Amino acid sequence: MCAKLSNIVNDISSILVPRVCFGCNTHLLGGEHLICTSCRNDLPLTDYTFNVENTVDRIFYGRINVKKANSFLFFTENGIVQQLLHHLKYKNQEIVGDFIGEWFGNTIKTNGFIDAIDYVVPVPLHRKKLQRRGYNQVTRFAKHLATNLNAEFRDDILLKTSNSKTQTKKGRLGRWFENKSLYTLSNSMDLANKNVLLVDDIITTGATIELCAKALQKSKNINIYVASMAVVPLRA
Ligand SMILES: [Zn+2]
Repeated sequence: MCAKLSNIVNDISSILVPRVCFGCNTHLLGGEHLICTSCRNDLPLTDYTFNVENTVDRIFYGRINVKKANSFLFFTENGIVQQLLHHLKYKNQEIVGDFIGEWFGNTIKTNGFIDAIDYVVPVPLHRKKLQRRGYNQVTRFAKHLATNLNAEFRDDILLKTSNSKTQTKKGRLGRWFENKSLYTLSNSMDLANKNVLLVDDIITTGATIELCAKALQKSKNINIYVASMAVVPLRA
């Protein structure tokens, strides 16, 4: 479709179904996409890079051997980032993954962290959960990172083996024990001697990444990097 026609179609569809900002619910203007200009300017970017140590790295110190970790946004309760991730996870808005993935991917490329990564691997959902939701909310984000890093997107190696109940209401310890060894590799040879970027939507305690990384480490000489859309800031 030519740009002009697609603009017209967008304008018509926004009359029929008003396009509203995912962050603040105000109507979007013609040139705005997903979130309004004001919310976009307010997005709490971490401005972390893969080249300098940051607070995401520190989450994993003494727990697992992660070469480098990075998150694009700070997650705060009731903030814009929470709204975006809510739309992504529960409202079928996979497009949020495109939006954050393309932006973050571009930023990483600009910062010069390109050649290191062989594979981009998303934190997997259990097969049943995937069926229920219809998509893994990390997939599109991960694919954009892979494209920008000249890496290959692989969601067939790291698998979730058992389907735990929603764990958000449990404490840190309970969550950790319940999650124990829920992840496995379909083939540990595939990732041997590779640089792997493990990708998730949000890093809170780091427990999920820790378990996934432990599964990945069954591959010999693997180097694990971590990226997420958002991170819950560490309390001082
Ligand atoms: Zn807004």
